Amino acid sequence: STAIVWLRQDLRLADNPALYHACKTCANVILIFIDDPLPGSVSRLGAASQVWLHHSLQALDASLQAAGNRLTLRQGSALPVLQALLAETGATHVYWNRVYDPASLARDKQIKEILKQSCTVHSFNASLLNEPWEVLKADGTPYKVFTPFWKAMLKHGIQHLPLPAPEQIPAPTSFPRSLALNELGLLPRTHWDTGMMAHWPAGETAAMQKLLDFLPLGGADYKNARNFPAQHGTAQLSPHLHFGEISPRQAVYHTEAFLAEHPAAESGLRHFIQEIGWREFAWYLLYHFPHTVDQALDERFKHFPWAEDYVENLEHWRRGQTGYPIIDAGMRELWQTGWMHNRVRMIVASLLTKNLLIPWQEGENWFRDTLVDADLASNVLGWQWTAGCGADAAPYFRIFNPILQSQKFDPEGEYIRRWVPELRARDNKQIHLPRELGDGLTDYPLPIVDFKASRERALAMFEQIKGPF
Ligand code: FAD
Repeated sequence: STAIVWLRQDLRLADNPALYHACKTCANVILIFIDDPLPGSVSRLGAASQVWLHHSLQALDASLQAAGNRLTLRQGSALPVLQALLAETGATHVYWNRVYDPASLARDKQIKEILKQSCTVHSFNASLLNEPWEVLKADGTPYKVFTPFWKAMLKHGIQHLPLPAPEQIPAPTSFPRSLALNELGLLPRTHWDTGMMAHWPAGETAAMQKLLDFLPLGGADYKNARNFPAQHGTAQLSPHLHFGEISPRQAVYHTEAFLAEHPAAESGLRHFIQEIGWREFAWYLLYHFPHTVDQALDERFKHFPWAEDYVENLEHWRRGQTGYPIIDAGMRELWQTGWMHNRVRMIVASLLTKNLLIPWQEGENWFRDTLVDADLASNVLGWQWTAGCGADAAPYFRIFNPILQSQKFDPEGEYIRRWVPELRARDNKQIHLPRELGDGLTDYPLPIVDFKASRERALAMFEQIKGPF
């Protein structure tokens, strides 16, 4: 029999249940990736993520060709594309791994109902440690706070060990028609992507290598080093996890295996596993509260008096021209590499939403377009957390002070000097501070907002909508 494996956020051969079971069961396996930019779903990619996807598909096809198979690429709405492929190939089984955003879930449910009439459909979990409906409070409702959620998740345990890559990926006698990768049009015409991708190798092999390099080098000190943006103190696994080049189960499994041999890394790597737990929590929340795709979970924010005329400030923020060195360093790191350090993400998001009073959705949109790891669930969680309007949000009175944060987490100004060359000549004290009028420096902007006054303004506004926080 012939199986179609429909790949989406699972661009890997190992620990891929859909692929694994198709190979075990069927004599011919056809793998397809459909470029279906379903509105509101994870597959509606921003510009940086499209570039990543191009390279990830290329890497996947190379691995498949080495195994005697290949990837079929098509474009369009998934249902008719799958129906056409079923008709062309006579396949009787369709396999896929679930994607948990509300739009994809609704689409896949409908596709399953229709395809079930003529073939067998098998779907699996490959992107989460557990299904989002498996871990609930005693009263059957979902958790809204991370710590009890994570405790319950650990108690529940991770249900399956990662699967190996299939020993063979049986190829059909003839491959179906496929678009060439370039025909998907994922790469930009102006080649701005070359500099960005110089920072990254995409694909399954690179993803596993990243993890295996991180564990001995950064693992033990992760808990502390993860806060300092100048250091490479984190694993930089997020784009790989987003596109499913590595699964969270693989990440946890290899981390546990390393810990069994290196118990001294316990506190660092336990914390690393917990961060993977935050990714899990983000998908859990989006699954249980689907309206948070673009609306605040906290209803009181429906009428929050965001700034109205903010186009200019938003543009300064996007371009890394706010006059706050740590913010500008972060926004430029993002622009040039497609990634930003987590601590700096929190600082830039706080300035946008609290000091500039720009709706969090604007920041989320910009991140979605520019991050190679842009991930619907984690991005929404990060923005709502910082803006104070999500589940388990930072308390509304926490407004990151970009100067204090900079002094604490980039004490030597190394990160700022890396991304804001205009400030390289400043000494270690001055490097953190906004420019002052009449200081003779002309190629770096004055601060676009007064931190102290805007902080007071934000606190007063939060007081107004506060109610029973
Ligand atoms: P590590 O510290 O090595 O952590 C390992 C993995 O754990 C990460 O790859 C990631 O999958 C997960 N993780 C770590 N921290 C978080 C977190 N706070 N929330 C969810 N998952 C986490 N992460 C994304 O993957 N995509 C996004 O679009 C995204 N947008 C964000 C927006 C804002 C405003 C904020 C504050 C955070 C956002 N994050 C997002 C979370 C976090 O910044 C990144 O996951 C992290 O910086 C990725 O780097 P790393 O792989 O080196 O992380």
